[in-house]
Amino acid sequence: MSLPGDYHTHSFLCNHATGQLSDYIHAAISLGLPEIGLSGHFPMHLLPSQFHKYAMSISQLNSYLNSAKELKKKFSSKIETKIAFEVDFHKPILSQYKQALKPILPDLDYLIGSIHGCSWNGYIIPIDSSFSLPNELKQNDNGTDSLLLAYYDELLDLVKSNYYDVLGHFDVIRKLGFIPENLDLINERVFRVLDALEVSNMAVEINTSGLRKPGNELYPNKLIINELIQRKIPLVMSSDAHRPDDVGYAFESTMKFLRRKGLNSICRISSHEKTQFSLS
Ligand SMILES: [Zn+2]
Ligand SMILES: [Zn+2]
Repeated sequence: MSLPGDYHTHSFLCNHATGQLSDYIHAAISLGLPEIGLSGHFPMHLLPSQFHKYAMSISQLNSYLNSAKELKKKFSSKIETKIAFEVDFHKPILSQYKQALKPILPDLDYLIGSIHGCSWNGYIIPIDSSFSLPNELKQNDNGTDSLLLAYYDELLDLVKSNYYDVLGHFDVIRKLGFIPENLDLINERVFRVLDALEVSNMAVEINTSGLRKPGNELYPNKLIINELIQRKIPLVMSSDAHRPDDVGYAFESTMKFLRRKGLNSICRISSHEKTQFSLS
């Protein structure tokens, strides 16, 4: 079975990932992938300062774009390189993000919309266990369920914004390890996001980075994947690689799993245009 492209990779530019952009392209070529997406974090300068170091700075934008364009050309006979960004969603600053991205949008193939900081009770809660969480969240009896609900409500706003091309790591909030007290209530919110996706023009990524984490499960989980396939929502594959060795991580087993679930096409995106490719 031929493997699809990898739509989500980082690089040294994100400060918490390793490898040059070209290392990720080489890794994809050696796996025989048809496409590789360079999708580092767009500068997080609009988020609280604790986030800033996880992305390139605004002053690095132009050199990133120039390098990516050169590499796209250089390797064009071997692989299709996509130029992209993973862009945070936070409703109050969306218009500022749009303004910052406007001049470079035509240079990009797609934007991945992701939530890394979830609004909750006046805080922006970082969805990464290496950050410390506010005591108020831990002490609040209903704190963790209310954070999960806040996350999916924010995700719904992300989808409804109609701004991004791909939804990034749908249920990454699982990373915090909270067990929902009221799973039905959380799933009801998840289904609202699925309903919005169905009428949007967005693709969703199947992100294998969850398989490299203690929970050992894809983002999103199987329940959501089933719904995505049944509703024929366009899907792209992503490793969310933070090291060149992560490129295409577990793609073969994941594609077999998706085929068994009934997936028969995969989405490709160029200049923000989606095309479905049937899987043979
Ligand atoms: Zn992310
Ligand atoms: Zn990422």
